[in-house]
Amino acid sequence: MPLEKRNAIVTGSTSGIGLSIARAFAKEGANVVLNGFGDTAAIDAERASITKDFGVKAFYSSADMSKPDEIRAMVKEVEEKLGSVDILVNNAGIQHVAPIEEFPIETWNLIIAINLSAAFHAIAAAVPGMKARKWGRIINTASAHSLVASPFKAAYVSAKHGIAGLTKTAALELATHGVTVNCISPGYVWTPLVEKQIPDTMASRNLTREQVINDVLLKAQPTKQFVTSDQVAALAVFLASDAAAQITGANYTIDGGWTAE
Ligand code: NAD
Repeated sequence: MPLEKRNAIVTGSTSGIGLSIARAFAKEGANVVLNGFGDTAAIDAERASITKDFGVKAFYSSADMSKPDEIRAMVKEVEEKLGSVDILVNNAGIQHVAPIEEFPIETWNLIIAINLSAAFHAIAAAVPGMKARKWGRIINTASAHSLVASPFKAAYVSAKHGIAGLTKTAALELATHGVTVNCISPGYVWTPLVEKQIPDTMASRNLTREQVINDVLLKAQPTKQFVTSDQVAALAVFLASDAAAQITGANYTIDGGWTAE
C-alpha cells in the first residue's frame, strides 16, 4: 500500500473533502489524525469506523484552526503520539458571501486565519520533523478561487490566492529536503460548505435555489457537474505517494474545466 506506516494530519476532516481525504489515506495504509468541529459522538464513530475498515490508527484533534497556538500544539502532540507527521493536508476552510462594502471585518479576519494563516502555522510546525527525516508531503486544499475570482467572496478569494503563493514558496524552500508542497484546486464540490452558501447567494443576487445551483455554481463548470470529494481525495493520495516525488510547487485544478475558460 502506497501510504503504509505514514502518519497524516488532515485539518477540517470531520466533513466533506477532508473526511474523504482522511478515509482515502487510511485505505492506503496511513494512520490519520482527524480534525474539525462537529458532534463528539459522530466524530468518535468516524474514528472507530476508520480503524475498523482499514486497520490503521485514527486519532482526533479538536485544535481550532483560527488559533495559532492550538495548530502548533496539534502538530507537536501528533509527533509525540505517532512519532512523526509525514503528510500534512491543510484543508480546513470556511466561506462567507457578501458585497465587499458590507463584508464583516471579523468574518474577513476569520477566513484569512482559517483558510490561509492556519496552513502557515501547521507547515512551520511540521517542517523541522519532515526535514530531519528527509521525507514529507504537504498538500493544501486551495480552490479554483486560487486562480480566478468571483464577486462577493473577497476574503475567500484572497485567502485562496494566498495559499497558492504559500505553496510555491514552501515548495522552493523544501525542494532539496525530500518534502513536496502542492495545492489542489477544486471547482464546486458538493459538500456542506457549498450547501451553506446557497441561502446567502440567493439573498445577495436575488435568485432562487435552483438558479444559484444551475446559473451561478455550475455555470462556472463546463462539465455541468459537481466534482466529488472522492475525486479530490484520489488526487491527494497520488500527491502523497512516492510516485509524486518530483511534483512540487504545483497547483492542480480539478474543476470540470472552469479555469480553462
Ligand atoms: P466542509 O464545510 O464540508 O468542511 C470544512 C471542514 O473544516 C469541517 O471539518 C469543519 O469542521 C472544519 N473547520 C471549519 N472551521 C474550522 C476551524 N476553525 N478549526 C478546525 N476545523 C474547522 O467544507 P468542504 O467543502 O469539504 O471544504 C474543505 C476545503 O475545500 C476548504 O478549504 C474549502 O475552501 C475547499 N474547497 C471546497 C470546495 C467546494 O466546492 N466544496 C471547492 C474548492 C475548495
